[in-house]
Amino acid sequence: MSIKEQYQHIKSQLPEDVTLVAVSKNHPIEKIQEVYNFGQRIFGENKVQEMMEKQPNLPSDIEWHLIGHLQTNKVKYIAPFVAMIQSVDSEKLLSEINKQAEKNERTIKVLLQVKIAEEDTKTGLEVSEAKELFLKYLQGEFPNIEIVGLMGMASFVDDKVQVKREFSFLKRLFDQLSMQKKLDVLSMGMSDDFHLAIECGANSVRVGSAIFGQRVY
Ligand SMILES: *Cc1c(COP(=O)(O)O)cnc(C)c1O
Repeated sequence: MSIKEQYQHIKSQLPEDVTLVAVSKNHPIEKIQEVYNFGQRIFGENKVQEMMEKQPNLPSDIEWHLIGHLQTNKVKYIAPFVAMIQSVDSEKLLSEINKQAEKNERTIKVLLQVKIAEEDTKTGLEVSEAKELFLKYLQGEFPNIEIVGLMGMASFVDDKVQVKREFSFLKRLFDQLSMQKKLDVLSMGMSDDFHLAIECGANSVRVGSAIFGQRVY
């Protein structure tokens, strides 16, 4: 299938209220421009350097989402333009994003990345840490940040029951926190598991290889 067919195939499988983040990491700007021309506006990158190189060379109405681990010393490079940082995994990082947002006289939308994979290799906040951070946010500690939701990555396993359990776990936390202040974005699911994620309540999915093809490293 061509990129166009793959993109349209993915789009056709998503309910209208589910946002697609097209994960363009390791793919050249020509391919991103192509998908942009089909109507896609939200793109996800996992590396600061790569996002910085691509952003000035592509249309300015693209919403760039950072989805990979972010080092605090690199926040300043993307703070002027990033639309959302989905991978907030520490208080230190949240504080730095807040500081850089203030410097740029803007508010930055973020998701708290919560560790949901039962295998312990994945990064993310523990549930208790996420709740604590959210509370500090509600108390006004990060005025230049808007926490709009949660992000999670399930284990890379074939066991659908396990993956479903992990997604459902995050959905419950999402509902719980939403009672304190309404959250809009529950970002779960990638090329291989987005159907299951949507079944479990995701309203934003991060799809890379199913659109762009395999990444070449
Ligand atoms: C690479 C990546 C994706 C997309 O993965 P695919 O399997 O290519 O769809 C989604 N989320 C994060 C955090 C990623 O790093």
